[in-house]
Amino acid sequence: AAKRAGGSTCVVYHPSMEGDAGEQLALQQELRDAIDHGELRLYYQPKVCSRNGRVHGWEALVRWQHPRRGLLGPAVFIPLAERFGFIGSLGQWVVDEACAQLARWREAGLDCRIAVNVSPQQLRQADLALRIEAALQRHALAPANLVCEITESAVMENTEQERGMLDRIAALGVRLSIDDFGTGYSSLAHLRKIPARQLKIDRSFVTDLATSTEAHAVLDAIVRLAHALKMEVVAEGVETQAQLDALTRLDCDILQGYFIARPMPAEQVPAWVAGRGPRLPGAEPAFTMAR
Ligand code: C2E
Ligand code: MG
Ligand code: MG
Ligand code: MG
Repeated sequence: AAKRAGGSTCVVYHPSMEGDAGEQLALQQELRDAIDHGELRLYYQPKVCSRNGRVHGWEALVRWQHPRRGLLGPAVFIPLAERFGFIGSLGQWVVDEACAQLARWREAGLDCRIAVNVSPQQLRQADLALRIEAALQRHALAPANLVCEITESAVMENTEQERGMLDRIAALGVRLSIDDFGTGYSSLAHLRKIPARQLKIDRSFVTDLATSTEAHAVLDAIVRLAHALKMEVVAEGVETQAQLDALTRLDCDILQGYFIARPMPAEQVPAWVAGRGPRLPGAEPAFTMAR
């Protein structure tokens, strides 16, 4: 906005300014084209078992390789796709590409599982379950190798129709994971009715683990709750050895975070698996990574 005002005029930036809206409009049009032009990428971040360090699965995280702006993270463009009504086609690309990648890895002898993030708006697409089923069939994949991560707030606020969609996806044999858990206002009665196998504890609790007895207590309670409901618990955002140790002591099943590995392009995955991946300076996971 400031640039467009030009000359000596000083414009204080504000996100709601018209110039910014125009920029958003231009960016959303570029994003539509980006899907067709093959500018979207999936990066993969491992989830590992706390007990033995084995890779439990990979989370696919979308990026946009923008021709001028460089590599953009989802926080920049997922909200645009949602606001301008094409999160459905973006999400479909993600599911297709993740399934294609899973098939390539399995062909190469890497037996694994991939999780994709599903936006609440995608649950409102009447044919979402059918599209997921078609993608699995196209790549000859077992449904249990695909995980759909849905945020807690989406799961809790959803309507009868969206809940029905979760049931249909689960009925395919695809696993459901409740993402960013602990930040919403879940009713336990409601949680019990969601056909999810996995709870992912929000990063904020992990971050505060060392300094906050409350965060520790909440984590402890969530792990117990999940286990009582026969769900597995994932901690996201593990950045230090101390966090990894504490989460393991809390009986958290699966760990994910920069301390283990940052999200990486698919090409780097086989080498990371074979060689335990890039080691973080001065730090080693408490376990030996499975080969
Ligand atoms: P999320 O699903 O909760 O993913 C975790 C985010 O935390 C990712 O950011 C990941 O790169 C980052 N992260 C992982 N480990 C660490 C760590 O140790 N420390 C810190 N500080 N961060 C860590 P990213 O890739 O920018 O994704 C942000 C969010 O965008 C995701 O949160 C997810 O809600 C959404 N998203 C990503 N890919 C997709 C997609 O394909 N479709 C949809 N609908 N949403 C997506
Ligand atoms: Mg996620
Ligand atoms: Mg998450
Ligand atoms: Mg998160």
